[in-house]
Amino acid sequence: MVSPLRPKPFLQPEYCKGCLRCIDACPKHCITPGHEINPITGLVPVELNLDACNGCTLCMQACPEPFGLRPETERCGASCGPDGDFELNDPAKLFGPRQVKAEPALDQPDERIELPACEPMVLKGNYASAIGALLGGCRHVFGYPITPSTEGSELMAKILPKLNGSFVQAVSETAAVNMMYGAGGGGVPCITFTSGPGFSLMLEGISYLVGAELPGVFVNIMRGGPGLGNLGPEQADIAMACRGLGHGNSHAIVLAPGTPQEMLDLAMESFDLSFRYRIPVVILGDGYLGQMTGVVKLPRHMIKRGMPAWAVCGDRGHRHNVISSIQLAEVDLEKHNEHLNRKYARIAEAEQRADLYRCADADTLIIACNTPARMAKGAIAAARAEGLRVGLFRPVTLWPFPIKLLADLLPQIDRIVVVEAGPGQLENELRLALSHAGYMPPHIETVRRHGGVLPSQDEIFNQLLAGREVVS
Ligand code: SF4
Ligand code: SF4
Repeated sequence: MVSPLRPKPFLQPEYCKGCLRCIDACPKHCITPGHEINPITGLVPVELNLDACNGCTLCMQACPEPFGLRPETERCGASCGPDGDFELNDPAKLFGPRQVKAEPALDQPDERIELPACEPMVLKGNYASAIGALLGGCRHVFGYPITPSTEGSELMAKILPKLNGSFVQAVSETAAVNMMYGAGGGGVPCITFTSGPGFSLMLEGISYLVGAELPGVFVNIMRGGPGLGNLGPEQADIAMACRGLGHGNSHAIVLAPGTPQEMLDLAMESFDLSFRYRIPVVILGDGYLGQMTGVVKLPRHMIKRGMPAWAVCGDRGHRHNVISSIQLAEVDLEKHNEHLNRKYARIAEAEQRADLYRCADADTLIIACNTPARMAKGAIAAARAEGLRVGLFRPVTLWPFPIKLLADLLPQIDRIVVVEAGPGQLENELRLALSHAGYMPPHIETVRRHGGVLPSQDEIFNQLLAGREVVS
């Protein structure tokens, strides 16, 4: 028998936002997801079947809405008009003044969970980045499939339902990036997998993420351009990721993996970076890297994400947080941009990364990233057999460009050969970084292919030999 002190719940559907927390809370399975959109709110309220209800109140405690699930004893007819239809009244009139403001939420820290050792796996780069995201604590994926990145979304669509996560194939990339804005605002790690044409469509939304200082990870597996281009592995989006992330003073951390192992490692770490700095992270792979298989070792730990204090996640402690990218007063927007600039400077100071290969005695540097860096290693072996002292400088962060690490090598370097599967966007980043840091560039040569054609080992080797005569 139910005690009169423990009334069953009732729900005015118009005050239910459909968060489903009450379903998890109810031990008697009295509450189920709704099936009909409420015409007044546009949301889908839950449905109650209280036959088994024992009045435990757990659902009411779980409900974050102050006028959501409430005890039957507080039911008030005042929300209904004379004909019995719902009238949207001021809730304060129905239920009294709002509860006292809750204490602000504190950061709920991430949890590190140790994993057992397992055998290395052979994985495509796209799958590796999806697994890295899962291990990094990501359970939300919003996207629109596009070759050559689709395997990342495909794997997430299969796995996430089993992990209590969400995979949403949006109607477009524009919709997907705005879903990421919502998830990021809620303090939830989320990722998308895309390629050049899709990434172009996301730029406006990325600018909003940057302006509102929200996390979110974008895996862009680059393909040939401009336009629809082709599916070849062109490094066509370096400029867009480093210099053109939508309108305004927009920057994201841009990472350039070189192997499937790095696709996993950087995808996992990207959530740390994205939440630490409250900034989007772009993982720029090329089409070859996304499709290439390689041996991948899994880490011995995974991350269970906490909840940042700034998030708008729906509970009482976070209720008064506001996420917005709009600053209508010019002076306020200027202050916000100055704040962003200080953050960008902190990132540039702390996060520059590069991989150095045979650079200790080098007087010639190849600068390359992604798959062309692998071709460069073969060319370096051949060139060293000819007596050339060549090393590889492989930027792992493209923004910020690792100029501090390059500067350490510059005194010994006579020439730089920039190797790209693209129209010179990596070279532009190099020249900008040298210029802003106040360095005179050494002699710079290039090996470039376009349209999805990769520079070959022979082409790089031949340039190393030919250029030797120019500088000597
Ligand atoms: S009061 Fe308890 S049993 Fe009844 S619906 Fe709520 S959680 Fe379920
Ligand atoms: S917890 Fe409250 S707002 Fe969330 S679904 Fe249940 S009744 Fe609706």
